[in-house]
Amino acid sequence: MWTRRETIFGGALTILWGTGTTCAHAHNIGGHELTGCMLPDPAANILLNRSAPPWLSLTGNEELFPKSGDSQFDYALAHTLSAMSELLHVLPGFCYFDDSEGENAYATNRVRLNRGDGTVLFGKGLLRRLMRQKEHPDVSVAAVCAHEFGHILQYKRGLTQIVGAGQPTVKRVELQADFFAGYFAGVRKLSRPQFPAAVFALTQYNFGDNMVNSPKHHGRPDERAAAIVQGFEAGFRERRSLDQAIGISINYVKQL
Ligand SMILES: [Zn+2]
Repeated sequence: MWTRRETIFGGALTILWGTGTTCAHAHNIGGHELTGCMLPDPAANILLNRSAPPWLSLTGNEELFPKSGDSQFDYALAHTLSAMSELLHVLPGFCYFDDSEGENAYATNRVRLNRGDGTVLFGKGLLRRLMRQKEHPDVSVAAVCAHEFGHILQYKRGLTQIVGAGQPTVKRVELQADFFAGYFAGVRKLSRPQFPAAVFALTQYNFGDNMVNSPKHHGRPDERAAAIVQGFEAGFRERRSLDQAIGISINYVKQL
């Protein structure tokens, strides 16, 4: 069991599930190189247009997948995603995709799946890897989803430009998404005291990178965990409203 203090400050912190790739490395989709996990339109078009809408035609050949294959997990995740939508005031579509080119999850403001605020795409390979973890695998999946929902919030409120304009890397944008993930975890813990919010920090810690001079730099492991904690405190201890949390997050990432 990981306490927050151990997660952030523990020098002997064990990396539970190896080096990750979500929002930590750029990928190439159809020749479009990505620097963050916010999917620009050309690459989104390639992913989203590859197949018929999944709810219309299930032939077994689709490259977008509405379900994970585990109905119990799908039910629980749908419940969690609904809570994220409610708290962050966003309503994106959500589906899985074939990430055999490189494990990842993405957010795009491209509207599909009958949801008005863009789409979150979660790699099946990434899902499989996270679900192999022994402790709270479902919570680590939720952490990644919350980060992606954070990007949807950035799209919706124009925050990407506010925190990312003129920056040499995507770090501020990515850490603000982490902040929003932490904020979700904090508010979740208010109503569910047993909610293992530290898993959010540990998950994003493991997706940190040290490519500090690369445009693709998303934040060092400690910075990613710290952003989760900052968001958590705003939600759990300070009980901030979403608008207040957004303001705090802007100030927080701008001083990084
Ligand atoms: Zn991201």
